[in-house]
Amino acid sequence: MTRVFSGIKPTGHLTLGNYLGAVRQWARVDQHRTDALFCVVDMHALTVDHDPARVRRLSRQAATLLLASGLDPELCTVFVQSQVDEHARLSYVLECVATDGEARRMIQYKEKAARERDRGGSVRLSLLTYPVLMAADILAYGTDEVPVGDDQTQHVELARDLAVRFNQRYGQAFVVPRATHPKVGARVMNLQEPTSKMGKTDDVGPGIVYLLDEPDVVRKKIMRAVTDSGREVVYDRVARPGLANLLEILAACEGGNPEDLSGVYESYGALKKDTAEAVVELLRPVQQRHKELCADPAYVEEVLRLGAEKARGMARPRVDAAYRAIGLLAG
Ligand code: ATP
Ligand code: MG
Repeated sequence: MTRVFSGIKPTGHLTLGNYLGAVRQWARVDQHRTDALFCVVDMHALTVDHDPARVRRLSRQAATLLLASGLDPELCTVFVQSQVDEHARLSYVLECVATDGEARRMIQYKEKAARERDRGGSVRLSLLTYPVLMAADILAYGTDEVPVGDDQTQHVELARDLAVRFNQRYGQAFVVPRATHPKVGARVMNLQEPTSKMGKTDDVGPGIVYLLDEPDVVRKKIMRAVTDSGREVVYDRVARPGLANLLEILAACEGGNPEDLSGVYESYGALKKDTAEAVVELLRPVQQRHKELCADPAYVEEVLRLGAEKARGMARPRVDAAYRAIGLLAG
């Protein structure tokens, strides 16, 4: 049996990057594996400056979009992190296994901390400990595989290290997980800044395609994507990042390889047009289903309630065992 777990943060509206790098794969492949779990990891959204009402709203929206993207509660467990206490319980124990040096080495911590400081804010302690909570999310379920975009590899590595260390010191409690990535689309770049990853919380809004963008908005953003100087439409991630990003998005939509699209297009305009239409078609069924689900919020609530109940039952015994193993009387 292969246990699959992954999550998404309600820090902003879901993007094309989230969809191609993670959610589409969850719906197409991962949910068909035994006991897959997919989580809206709302506690992670508190690690940066946030508006409480917005986080609650975005959590519901993210859960609705996961279902709209094809996650089927008959096949997998969809739930919200804060509704299952085991995540926070295990996170504390793992903080007693991780070192502060390990946490400070995380690239995402460095980037997000720098951004908070640039904005004149302070860096929350939870931003530093975030990957430890993420390790708890993963390890609580005896996860084998974590399907994520490229950017999460380092965090999954930390979860591996903590699992191995805990097992060695305190006895076998955790499965050692590994990250998996889609072949194409594991790192969608910002359309206006093709050397930076497209992220929900980026400042460069016009460079981000959101799952719920209207078709005309999608077209406009893609037609205005930054491309590189040069004429031929060839795939070269290093020398031609803007073009490479468009070719990857198109290939991901069509289920092909970006290399195979090298030399196929005569002009940037033609490539952009096809890419825009492919993305519009990709998003159309998700948006349609999202609209239907929004008309039935009670259904979504019920899916999340049942999902949390199931997840709790799956996590509890392992977290209790870890508590006992590390020397606590509780558990
Ligand atoms: P934030 O800016 O708040 O970190 P995010 O867009 O990076 O938001 P996450 O909730 O951190 O979204 O990540 C959810 C999933 O989407 C993860 O598996 C992550 O690797 C994947 N993902 C995020 N951005 C991209 C991207 N640009 N391309 C491919 N996958 C991505
Ligand atoms: Mg992220």
